Amino acid sequence: MEFIAAKCPQCGADLQVPDNKDFVYCLYCGSNIKVRDAVLIKDNVNIENFIEIAYEAIKNRNFMEANEYLNRVHEIDINNVKAWWGKAGTSINSSTGYDTLISAGINYAKKAYDLADEKDKAEIKEKMIAELCGHDLWSSHIDSLFLLFDEFGQDDIRPLKKIVDICNKNIYSSLKPHPDSNKLFEHRSRAMNLIMKMDSKSYSQLETKCKQLENGRIEQIKSIRVVLVSRKISDLNDKYLMGNVIFSAILALIIGAYFSTLNSLKDIWFLFSVVIFTLYCLIYYSLIKGEAEKSISDSDVINY
Ligand SMILES: [Zn+2]
Repeated sequence: MEFIAAKCPQCGADLQVPDNKDFVYCLYCGSNIKVRDAVLIKDNVNIENFIEIAYEAIKNRNFMEANEYLNRVHEIDINNVKAWWGKAGTSINSSTGYDTLISAGINYAKKAYDLADEKDKAEIKEKMIAELCGHDLWSSHIDSLFLLFDEFGQDDIRPLKKIVDICNKNIYSSLKPHPDSNKLFEHRSRAMNLIMKMDSKSYSQLETKCKQLENGRIEQIKSIRVVLVSRKISDLNDKYLMGNVIFSAILALIIGAYFSTLNSLKDIWFLFSVVIFTLYCLIYYSLIKGEAEKSISDSDVINY
């Protein structure tokens, strides 16, 4: 027979109780007490202290210490909601961008959620969703957000909206295609499909937003292309300037020499040279424009 530290549930006195008995009498107040209750109460005192130390450590971002105390709580009581919740906080706060730690945090929070009573369940769920969706997350966190959605009832669209938001931010962060753009589009349409089933109004709002972003991108590419082509045209004009001057001079000389002998045809001569010159300009411009447009590739535009 061994004695274990316990506390009388009636008078709160510290006791040593035999581990082989179910009931004992308190030496101080005389009540008949259940040994298991008395031992648990004694442990609970420690548990509350451990939890307090751990939560304080989390506040001070001392996650190693926090985990140490939370593990001690779990050694005594594996079903302790506060300790699982504390582990969730530790894991998520120490993640600094690592998705695995955020996923682990979500799993810990889910344990707390499953063990909690109804009122705490609602609070845990709300805190988890609000906290994670309020954070500035990256594309590496998309899997975690899907996990969050799956684990907490699949009835809250905030994680899905956040996923669409992250995908759009990355897809449209620059004109250059994102290295993971295929994956991002895949994630986005998966999230959008789920939203469509849950909330058609939010779905159409998001759909409009995605389209606007896509159109904005197309417009931007178009306007950059216009700028690049006109630059190229001016470069080509510079390049062919001498040729144009010489050609125009020769044209003027030939036409002039031919018609200058016939005084009566001077008006026609004037009209004819205007027509020739206009034709020349049109042909020249369309050739140059064609050459400029051909020389500007899509990658010139997106790398601009
Ligand atoms: Zn007592």
